Amino acid sequence: MSITLIWFRRDLRLEDNPALIHALEAGGRILPVYIHAPEEEGEWAPGAAARWWLHHSLQALGGELARRGAPLVIRRGPSRTALEALVRESGAQRVVWNRLYDPAVIRRDREIKAALREQGLEVKSFNAALLMEPWAVSNRSGQPYRVFTPFWKASRALGAERQSPGPSAPAHLPGLSGAPATESVEALDLLPHIPWDTGLAATWQPGEAGARQALARFAEKALEDYDRGRDRPGRTGTSRLSPHLHFGEIGPRQVMAVCTRARERAAGGVDRFLSELGWREFAHHLLFHFPQTPTRPLDRRFEDLPLADPREVPFEAWCHGRTGLPIVDAGMRELWHTGWMHNRVRMITASLLTKNLRAPWLEGARWFWDTLVDADLAANTLGWQWTAGCGADAAPYFRIFNPVLQGERFDAAGDYVRRWVPELAQLPDRHLHRPWEAPAAVLRAAGVDLDRDYPRPVVDLAESRRAALAAFEHIKARPKAD
Ligand SMILES: Cc1cc2nc3c(=O)[nH]c(=O)nc-3n(C[C@H](O)[C@H](O)[C@H](O)COP(=O)(O)OP(=O)(O)OC[C@H]3O[C@@H](n4cnc5c(N)ncnc54)[C@H](O)[C@@H]3O)c2cc1C
Repeated sequence: MSITLIWFRRDLRLEDNPALIHALEAGGRILPVYIHAPEEEGEWAPGAAARWWLHHSLQALGGELARRGAPLVIRRGPSRTALEALVRESGAQRVVWNRLYDPAVIRRDREIKAALREQGLEVKSFNAALLMEPWAVSNRSGQPYRVFTPFWKASRALGAERQSPGPSAPAHLPGLSGAPATESVEALDLLPHIPWDTGLAATWQPGEAGARQALARFAEKALEDYDRGRDRPGRTGTSRLSPHLHFGEIGPRQVMAVCTRARERAAGGVDRFLSELGWREFAHHLLFHFPQTPTRPLDRRFEDLPLADPREVPFEAWCHGRTGLPIVDAGMRELWHTGWMHNRVRMITASLLTKNLRAPWLEGARWFWDTLVDADLAANTLGWQWTAGCGADAAPYFRIFNPVLQGERFDAAGDYVRRWVPELAQLPDRHLHRPWEAPAAVLRAAGVDLDRDYPRPVVDLAESRRAALAAFEHIKARPKAD
């Protein structure tokens, strides 16, 4: 009897799962496996918020698999040793998985594929995570793209938007009668020891069912108005699919299918949303072709950018939402509480750290890595380098977000700041984003005592902007080699 081992990684779904489909088409029995080996991801092993998500997502996947007759077997790494042991124990002749694109994982998977093939096994990998493989798109001279618009145009021409999802989850799965021993999800120790995760639990439903619901909710309530709603952090104007997409609880082809149906009703919103999926593709394209970028700027001039004295950077105040700049503090508290932050506010908070405070972008990227439930090496690297001005298609360095003006423009009615910085909730709109300029009587009436209830800004925005521009002058004239 033929047995196929399916190695689940960040493709924690049963619908539109090419490795699973292949295993079923091969006939015989299947052995679904998850191997816990964070050390193999080097310094980008999942952070605390992502581990929380993974725990719940594995539980959800395990439940769905068991209900269908093929329980999930969980083991600890090293991955290769665990796979070889499971092949021996089960008698599998075939091993299949869906590809990941982080540099350390690509290296590991190549080695494992070669080793298993040498042992006579059939090994196959598939694309479940992207619309296009990162190597499938290149410019006329065969080079990777560094600018989003031509990248997305080329991807669309190659059919990125015409991808359709694979079949839905089978009702029954042919599991092994005596499956090998498994660890429990709890034994992986993914949950925090001090319970800071209540906000996460109240906000999210990890797992395939939660992903489907999030997509349906978005398609019904916000997709059509996405081009207007996406920039308002006080509204639920975006899909909040990012953690589901990161863990592969839903794939971009499934999202695309829903968008294609909605396009006839509201092309503007849908096209804008699809281009965000395009940014996700672009992030993977860049990480694949420039694997050094998680720790080094794509624009190498920035390695010599003069930075602030680390002792003078109020990093703790930034992390914990105590900078005295309301929209920044709202964002950092939303992140801490829910494991997610609105995209516009990610840009504002990252700009403050890298430009006004002149801290290394990598420090911010690491904090996001630990606190985001959607922490994703491709998207996080792109987001930080874009904002810091040192990446592909970067915001020009002289574009320094002013958090007061951004707050007044994108949170004009103050819903976002009032929710996350409740000590300022009683301030009138016109003073909400700049409380330190409010007259004493206004502050008193709103019950705000600056210094006691809420800090003054940790940095002078105009002066720090000038200092950032002066720092850029040092490197501006150098060649942009990578
Ligand atoms: C400093 C910084 C750090 C970031 N770190 C991450 C990260 O670790 N993980 C992550 O998924 N996104 C990251 N982003 C991108 C973006 O902020 C999030 O993808 C988005 O806020 C997720 O919310 P959503 O699912 O509601 O997005 P929607 O607006 O509904 O977009 C749909 C999907 O498109 C993708 N997407 C949207 N914008 C981007 C983008 N700019 N780059 C890449 N993919 C995008 C996401 O998968 C998202 O779920 C970062 C952005 C910045 C500026």
